Amino acid sequence: MKKVLIIDDDPISTGFLKGLISNKLNFPCESAKNLKEAQSLLQNADEFNIAFVDVSLPDAMQGECIDLVLKCKIPVIAMTDSSKTELQKKVLSKDILDHVNKDSSSSFDYAMRLLRFVYGFAGSEILLVDDSKASRLQMKFSLNKLPLTIHEAKDAKEALIQFKKNPEIKLIIIDKNMPNMSGIELLQELRRSHNMNELAIIGISASTEPMLSVEFLKNGANDFITKPFIPEEMLSRVILSLEMLYYIRLAEESAVKDFLTGLYNRKYLYETGKKLYENAKREHLSIVVAMLDIDYFKKINDRFGHEAGDMALKFLGALLLKEFRTSDIVTRYGGEEFCIILTNTKLKDSEIVMKSICRKVEDMVISINNITFRMTLSVGLNDKTLGSFDQMVAASDEKLYQAKDEGRNRVVS
Ligand code: GH3
Ligand code: MG
Ligand code: MG
Repeated sequence: MKKVLIIDDDPISTGFLKGLISNKLNFPCESAKNLKEAQSLLQNADEFNIAFVDVSLPDAMQGECIDLVLKCKIPVIAMTDSSKTELQKKVLSKDILDHVNKDSSSSFDYAMRLLRFVYGFAGSEILLVDDSKASRLQMKFSLNKLPLTIHEAKDAKEALIQFKKNPEIKLIIIDKNMPNMSGIELLQELRRSHNMNELAIIGISASTEPMLSVEFLKNGANDFITKPFIPEEMLSRVILSLEMLYYIRLAEESAVKDFLTGLYNRKYLYETGKKLYENAKREHLSIVVAMLDIDYFKKINDRFGHEAGDMALKFLGALLLKEFRTSDIVTRYGGEEFCIILTNTKLKDSEIVMKSICRKVEDMVISINNITFRMTLSVGLNDKTLGSFDQMVAASDEKLYQAKDEGRNRVVS
């Protein structure tokens, strides 16, 4: 992962910033105390994603260090000091990403959001739709400091073609007045297939129009910008819209993921399993359901503590994720039980895979707080597409009980 560069002669402020970046974001940092040290670090400029630069350093009193970093094509967040108003003005006229006031902690909170954006949204694709080339240029100018991939279209027809060609586009900014098909009509067309949680749309139009924003918002736009706008407004609203999509995706993901292991949960198993089951039946494809249960797990908890038990579950989750193909669905069914759907796999082959996993689990040594222990698994397999997916799971569960009865640490199919 690329690093954050901090250039500041004040050790307290550098320490504060480093703490924020590592605690809140877990990004790697490196720091320099002056221009000379910065020059030396910037010999490997490729290692840095973004830089916080103090406007006034002992050997660069007038913001010269900012120019140096910008020359290396690294986005700069300038750190200003309210006592130096003239210098602050000079710095703000430079091509910096943004600035923070060293005396304000909320200013640093905003900087953390920017940082998260630069790391998390690098390469995000957006589409600008406006019949005026000048207007598109102005939007591009406002956004060029962010690591975005920007597509352009001069009318609605071109926009739809661009969107189809680049399905990774996450945000579309649409001008209201365009020839042939208006911005509102384009918005309605896009909303037929993509809701507000999947695709962000920002309307844009000149302020002389009455009811300007309402029509856009009522038709499903996420936000609205009035022309003329200042670059900072465009920048902040784009960041806000992309952040919103990100948090919605996070919330949707956490509803189907298990907190401890990070694997999908039972809800996801049944939702996806039903679809895969129907598809397998229709297309005459093979599908196998594997039910896994850790042997004598209660004893692990009793002997080594709940924390050790949790660690064992995490280790097993990570191992399962590593061993199965991305097309297989690996879930934590509950407690110390896991359920896996193997697609396009014959029963015999999945038996081989599961036996190999059982051996790997048996060999795995789990260490926590100077304690080491091992565990074993029992597995039940079923490939019969009975009446429903639920029945497939129940049949695998029966085989699992058979594996337990026959002595554990084995696969039964
Ligand atoms: P068997 O071989 O028959 O499966 O025996 P077992 O001890 O593994 O099965 P049992 O169902 O008797 O016990 C399961 C235990 O798993 C009991 C429960 O406290 C523990 N457990 C369930 N969820 C968690 C968890 O998230 N963390 C930890 N540490 N323990 C858990
Ligand atoms: Mg068990
Ligand atoms: Mg159990």
